[in-house]
Amino acid sequence: MMTNKYLALPPGISEANFDLAIAEFTAILGADRVLISEDLLKPYTKIMIAEPTEKHDPSAALIATEVAEVQKILKVCNKYRVPIWTISTGRNFGYGSAAPASRGQVILDLHRMNRIINVDPVMGTALLEPGVTYQQLTDYLKDNKIPLWLSCPAPSAIAGPVGNTLDRGVGYTPYGEHFMMQCGMEVVMANGEILRTGMGAIENTTAWQVFKWGYGPYLDGLFTQSNYGVVTKLGTWLMPAPPAYKPFCIRYENETDIHDIVETLRPLRMANIIPNAMVFASAIWEAAALFPRTKYYTGKGATPDSVLRDMIKAEKLGAWNVYAALYGTKEQIAVNWDIITNVVKASGKGLIITEEEAGDTQPFKYRAALMRGDMTLQEFGLYRWRGGGGSMWFAPVAQARGAETLKQMELAKSILNEHGLDYVAEFIVGMRDLHHIVDVLFDREDPVETAAAYACFDKLLSEFAKRGYAVYRVNTAFMDKTAALYGSTKQDIERSIKHALDPNGILAPGKSGIYL
Ligand SMILES: Cc1cc2nc3c(=O)[nH]c(=O)nc-3n(C[C@H](O)[C@H](O)[C@H](O)COP(=O)(O)OP(=O)(O)OC[C@H]3O[C@@H](n4cnc5c(N)ncnc54)[C@H](O)[C@@H]3O)c2cc1C
Repeated sequence: MMTNKYLALPPGISEANFDLAIAEFTAILGADRVLISEDLLKPYTKIMIAEPTEKHDPSAALIATEVAEVQKILKVCNKYRVPIWTISTGRNFGYGSAAPASRGQVILDLHRMNRIINVDPVMGTALLEPGVTYQQLTDYLKDNKIPLWLSCPAPSAIAGPVGNTLDRGVGYTPYGEHFMMQCGMEVVMANGEILRTGMGAIENTTAWQVFKWGYGPYLDGLFTQSNYGVVTKLGTWLMPAPPAYKPFCIRYENETDIHDIVETLRPLRMANIIPNAMVFASAIWEAAALFPRTKYYTGKGATPDSVLRDMIKAEKLGAWNVYAALYGTKEQIAVNWDIITNVVKASGKGLIITEEEAGDTQPFKYRAALMRGDMTLQEFGLYRWRGGGGSMWFAPVAQARGAETLKQMELAKSILNEHGLDYVAEFIVGMRDLHHIVDVLFDREDPVETAAAYACFDKLLSEFAKRGYAVYRVNTAFMDKTAALYGSTKQDIERSIKHALDPNGILAPGKSGIYL
């Protein structure tokens, strides 16, 4: 419900009671850090998913700058049963952006809690507050001449390691699986208590950022993709800058080559000969970095295959484009480069392109930047492809097996095309899995296309589940459905944990489909 004063109200809370909560928040933070006007809430209401904006309007936003403020805020939330949706840098584009899972939640915005508490140049570790951006950390390393590299997601500069890691996001260096590289957290629990995970629970700890597991049950996972606490510090490992770096591309002609790509490159990845989270990008993903689809197609619906084939030929793109890199001494790289080029030649497919051959051209340039953790926003070109600002990431996990990727590609493409949408995808290679990242792009200003995108996403989830596939992360419109697909036992356990840790259900109701 919108009132004269508020854009929305938390569910079940009267305006008079919300007034009281707001007065208490204001006493903690001061009026300038309690945002309630529609104008000031705009940054939190801009979503890209295929649901009406109103479904995700917050009732207010609170800007905290200290752990003690977070503790006090949670106390007020418990008192009035106000639900609170925590963001760090709030750039979760295509997964819900900064907006809450449901209407009326108060945003707890931690972007101004942005101290780099510690970077240890010898151990290659960092302890960060939630608001630290990748740009800020990059600048810090450069200013202090610390030879460590970041691993960042494509929106790099404007997003941050804490939020990205807590949503179990990925980057493109050898440290690309970010949660794997996370080490130690500080968490404010719903009752205001402060938990330090891992070795952080030991007074005067000396090993908080170097040993992940601590003692007893490993708790850090509980605070990722969840609503069990507010993370106020997070430790992460940074990669020693290698003496040499060699990014490269391998271009493949046909869509069905995805089978052979996986079979050829998986052994190299598993043996760490290719050490990074390499990417297989589809033709449209490549094209979108360069031009909108109107250059080749102005019709409605999905871009026809014949048009795509012409585009691939004319623009000298691959139907699949592998981006990977080598890191180490020149000698190490030379040995691994020989192995890779020989394996690719022996496979009889794939055109290898080096940095020297690519020169200053895109998309090679931004991929080379991403694989060394440099800042680039080039990938936002994806939104030029179709226009209209609609995007939802459909991100199923696949075994790193050729037959599996081919099956997933064909299934995703047919469902997207059936709904008039394009298959715009990349596979990001983990140790044994592939994150199959499909950007469901649509014109959010067109209600018919938005409805088609919603139906398409719904069908993608269901049809993939029928074949034993599921997503690793999902946008706020589909969290409940995804949780249900993972089964009732898991949901029951998650609900029991929620009852134990957050008995009033104030923390981010609905995150990952978890409620009281
Ligand atoms: C063009 C494009 C490319 C992208 N490429 C990538 C990519 O390569 N890899 C990738 O992973 N993502 C990618 N994304 C998705 C997304 O933009 C990034 O994952 C981004 O890092 C998430 O935003 P953030 O870092 O600001 O996190 P936030 O939005 O701050 O946080 C993400 C979520 O984590 C939870 N959370 C945040 N902070 C806390 C806290 N302190 N305590 C408890 N819970 C918390 C909340 O549920 C929140 O919604 C891409 C998006 C676009 C538009």
